[in-house]
Amino acid sequence: SVAITLKQVQKTFSDGTLALKPLDLHIEKGEILVLLGPSGCGKTTTLRLIAGLEFCDQGGQILFGERDVTNVAIEQRRVGMVFQSYALFPNMNVSENIAYGLRVRGESKELKEKKVQEMLELFDLEPYAHRGIDQLSGGQRQRVALARAIITEPEVLLLDEPLSALDALLKKRLRTDINALLKRLGITAVYVTHDQEEAMAMGDRIAILDRGEIAQIGTAEEVYLSPKSEFVANFIGQMNHFDGLLNGQALSFRSNFIPLPETLYSTYKEGERIRCMTRPEDVRLTSFEDATLKGAVSHSVFLGDRTRVLVSVEGVKELVHVDCFERKRYSKGDRVGLVIPPLCLVLLPNLGSEE
Ligand code: ADP
Ligand code: MG
Repeated sequence: SVAITLKQVQKTFSDGTLALKPLDLHIEKGEILVLLGPSGCGKTTTLRLIAGLEFCDQGGQILFGERDVTNVAIEQRRVGMVFQSYALFPNMNVSENIAYGLRVRGESKELKEKKVQEMLELFDLEPYAHRGIDQLSGGQRQRVALARAIITEPEVLLLDEPLSALDALLKKRLRTDINALLKRLGITAVYVTHDQEEAMAMGDRIAILDRGEIAQIGTAEEVYLSPKSEFVANFIGQMNHFDGLLNGQALSFRSNFIPLPETLYSTYKEGERIRCMTRPEDVRLTSFEDATLKGAVSHSVFLGDRTRVLVSVEGVKELVHVDCFERKRYSKGDRVGLVIPPLCLVLLPNLGSEE
């Protein structure tokens, strides 16, 4: 496998659409990088550029290791690809589909049989070797597509929402399987998804794309715990927002004060408008009397592993979303206190209007 480097890679389509703004990206040898973002943000375009199915605008450069592949055709790039639609050949059986890449290369019958057998075993497809594609389930088809993509031992594997057509349970199992397989084979992979949980489970790092730009890149922990923008904070997980002013070592928010740790407030000026955010699972409910931040329950939903409680504060309806993990019931109108551990806060400059 090889490292992949993109330098100032930009893509303008012939109709003038700027799908990708100049992008710099380095993917380590053997790394799984996830591209995450909403529909239309440029994930597939990035993947197609790396594959050689599209070419970037003048001035951009794509390297596989030291090798400049910017203008190299897909056949000479040694990439494997897996798509959401499996794109299997309906007129070939499972073994023939898997063998396809070796056949095109004109490999010997012995080598083909040996490698196909390895793939059938690896993907638990042995019983289905001679079945037609239309006699397979979605999960089996996806495994055939994966086997077909890796049998040629590509230097780079590109996966474009490979699991999005599958049901939730199968998705979870396959993402674990795929991750383990890629790690075992040491393949450098770029994995596209719009599913944040899949992104976190799959990627060594996640690049979050917003309208053709990388909004943030980092490990799952980095992007989840220290989002650098509103977009990232709200795309990966959910956030509560408190807009207020920096007042001493706290955020003054309406008539409340939310204490802030020095590491956070020290980069802001006294009186500056800031937005303070925290995840629902980080907020704790306590008794109304003891708390400095007080509210009233407006709604509560039992979700099995937790209860989501929506709390109104100072007349702001359902301002705070709280995930409670203890089996306690809350009813509409219950008066509750809110505790927010300072280290679970994320601060951003508040550039928007005051609510
Ligand atoms: P994603 O995979 O994240 O959903 P895409 O990479 O497919 O996004 O698309 C990014 C942007 O480029 C979108 O605005 C899309 O409409 C546009 N786009 C994609 N392919 C083409 C094309 N062949 N011609 C013109 N615009 C395109
Ligand atoms: Mg896409």
